[in-house]
Amino acid sequence: MDVYATTAGDEAFLLDLLNTTPVIDGAPTDLLADLATAAPWLADHEIAATTGELAALVRARGVLQAVVRGDESPSALQPFLDRVHLAPTGTDTGLQWRLHGGDATGAARAIVAWDGLRITSPGRLRPCANTECRLFLLDRSKPNTARWCSMAICGNRMKARRHYRRSRADS
Ligand SMILES: [Zn+2]
Repeated sequence: MDVYATTAGDEAFLLDLLNTTPVIDGAPTDLLADLATAAPWLADHEIAATTGELAALVRARGVLQAVVRGDESPSALQPFLDRVHLAPTGTDTGLQWRLHGGDATGAARAIVAWDGLRITSPGRLRPCANTECRLFLLDRSKPNTARWCSMAICGNRMKARRHYRRSRADS
């Protein structure tokens, strides 16, 4: 049985979480490095700014990044799911599922959103094709051929590099 209990907001939250380890000016950066650094991000995403929440979120982020890159099996997500459950409520249109996140609501929400995408949008969440970029993208385009987190940044950079290589090879 495929159950997904996520909204566009949860998917955006997941992508935001995966993208909290950008490379800025050539330096790998962690927007969730510690509670003080992470506080604005947590507040933006309505997650309690506690050491427990942050620690679980950062650990879950690492596993999710590895899973999306294909380096880790989703079974590695199990430690974050032990006390997580979904409860259905009947509404006028059907069922509405509510996530009860156990000890860490942020980690649970991100993982459930990842699984929702796996079911509804297989293969559309992926790492940026620029190997020097650590961001992820969610491709919603019909042909599903986007390769860059951002055409303006990585797309142009990679095109410029290919062009540079080609023009050097020609000379
Ligand atoms: Zn990129």
